[in-house]
Parts: sequence; structure tokens; C-alpha cells
Amino acid sequence: MKISDIGEFGLIASVEERFRALVPEGYEGIGDDCAVLPLNGQRSLVVTKDLLVEGVHFRRAYTTPRQLGYKSLAVNLSDIAAMGATPSAIFLGLALPADTDAAWCDEFFEGFRSPGIPLLGGDTTASPDRIVISVTALGTIRNEHLKLRSTARPGDLIAVTAPLGDSAAGLRALAAGWPSDDADTAYLIERHNQPYSFVSAGEWLGARPEVHAMMDVSDGLASDLPHILRASGCAARIRFEDIPMSEPLARTAGCYGYDALSMALCGGEDYVLLFTVSPESAVELQKSYEEYFDAPLFVLGEVIDGPPGQVEWMMDSKIQNIDLKGFTHF
Ligand code: ADP
Ligand code: MG
Repeated sequence: MKISDIGEFGLIASVEERFRALVPEGYEGIGDDCAVLPLNGQRSLVVTKDLLVEGVHFRRAYTTPRQLGYKSLAVNLSDIAAMGATPSAIFLGLALPADTDAAWCDEFFEGFRSPGIPLLGGDTTASPDRIVISVTALGTIRNEHLKLRSTARPGDLIAVTAPLGDSAAGLRALAAGWPSDDADTAYLIERHNQPYSFVSAGEWLGARPEVHAMMDVSDGLASDLPHILRASGCAARIRFEDIPMSEPLARTAGCYGYDALSMALCGGEDYVLLFTVSPESAVELQKSYEEYFDAPLFVLGEVIDGPPGQVEWMMDSKIQNIDLKGFTHF
């Protein structure tokens, strides 16, 4: 049997099972955006790690080293934000082919450097043929602000912090060589190479008790929402009409003949926050978020009782009989 037969999530599940008995009481181990280690009665440490492998996660031809540095940090901070936590430190592992330009590294580190996020260590090695970047991020949080995937409740509304699909469309633009002097294409490529950061939004949502469950969307809504639903033992109903999509996405879909909705549902790497909120508080939450961040929240459906993990995709109030998949490795 090969890893490709087991699949990414099958492999993670078998690791989780093998190590589960070693996880101390009160800790959160494998399964959420970050692990949670209690510090004392009031606060916890959250820890996440993401790998970026050349040829899998990035190509040197598609991104500047500065953008890659920025994104390597951003994808990790996104997992810290998804817990409602505040980032406190990062560690960087780098495997570099010996012929990598020193100037490339300089630029990478410029993009990786962010005010308030100290780099406290890491590891550097040679690599035979490709760049591998491994980032570990740590954050802290007051225990009552912690947002897990497992705490959604039937009746909660489901919302995201930004339109979906731009990053996947940006990748398509790069791969297909759409002319990037077009403003829409440039916008989508920028969303792919420099995803927005929702660190402040994560902290803000973390402090709101009416927000019940949260994660970040890294593999596409169709793949990521079921993680919240399975962990919480619920199902969901999502309305296609309410899936937020940017104008550049809609316009380039028309121009290049691709389906914007499947890009928004199944495309990965948006790194927006996906959360559930009690229905009676949703309008007030939307209003105060908009006042604070000068940006909207997008409600796209609700949590319902039903088979854990199942999503009813609705259009014009009718259930759509489709099996959507997001990105998985292998
Ligand atoms: P995310 O997209 O939020 O980074 P992933 O889908 O990559 O999360 O991983 C899901 C969960 O599995 C996380 O809790 C992560 O820490 C854990 N995980 C992934 N790979 C491994 C591994 N090789 N060993 C232990 N835990 C892992
Ligand atoms: Mg995540």
C-alpha cells in the first residue's frame, strides 16, 4: 500500500490514533488548526506548523522571494488567528539547494519579517534540488477566548471574513499565463502570492463569546467546512447565492471561461477565517465588525442537525445533488 492509497487525511488520522494516548489531559492535540497546551489556569499556548515545498506549494517563477517569505509566515499566522489567539513567536526551518542566490534569501527574509513577530530560532540544511520551508508559529490566548473546530452548534450561522476563490484563480492565471497587466488578473495573482492577514480579525472574533467554532480556509470551503462539522457532530446548509466572490473573480471567469463558484468552493489557499456564530448575535456582530475593520463579514449558511460532516448545498432553495471536493495532498 502506498501513501497515495491512504491519502493525506487517512495518514493524519492514523498518526493521531497512534499518539492519542500520550496527549495529556487538558491538551488539544492533532485535529485543530493549532495544538493547545495549557499554560496556567487562565491562558494557553497554541502551536502550529506548516511546510511549503517548492514544486508543490510554490514555484520560483510564480512568486518573488519577498512574497514567498510573506506567505510562509502568513499561512502559519492564519492558523494562530483561527484559534482566536495572538501570535508570539516563530521558528524557521530552511532546506536550500547550494546554488540558491544569497540575494534570493535576503529578499525572502525581508518578506518573512513582520513587526511584533520575533523569529527565535530554526534550522538550516542543504537540499538536493528544491527549497523546503518549514515554519512553526506560537501564540497565546486567554482560555475563554479559544475557538475550536468542535464547538459549532445547530442553529449557528456560518460566516467568512472575505470572498473565496481569488487565490485559486490567481494560481490558474499564473499557470495559464494570463496577461498580468490586466488589473483583475493582477489582483487575483496578488491574492495568491500575498493573502490578506486575518490575525487582528481572529483575535477580535476570539474575544466574542457568541462566536462558537472557527478555523481558517486553506483547502477550500468544500473541504474545510466538513472539518468543523465532523468535529462538532453537526451538518450544514450553505446557499450558493451567498458564497462571497470578488468582482475580479467573476469578471475573469466570464472572460476565460471557468466556473467562479467551483473556484470559490473548491479552490484552496484563501486563508480567510470561517466561523459559526449564534443566530441572535449575528447581525450585531456583523455590524460591529464592519465598524471596527471597515470590511464586511459574509454569512453563507447555517449549522443544522444531521449526519456529522454533511453539507447541503442549496441553490434557489433547492438542494443540489453534487459531491464537492477541496484540495488534498496525495
Ligand atoms: P491546517 O490546514 O490547519 O494547517 P492540516 O489539514 O494541515 O491543518 O492538518 C490537520 C491536523 O493534522 C492539524 O492538527 C495538524 O497539526 C495535524 N497534522 C498534520 N500533519 C501531521 C503530522 N505529520 N504529524 C502530526 N500531526 C499532523
Ligand atoms: Mg488551518
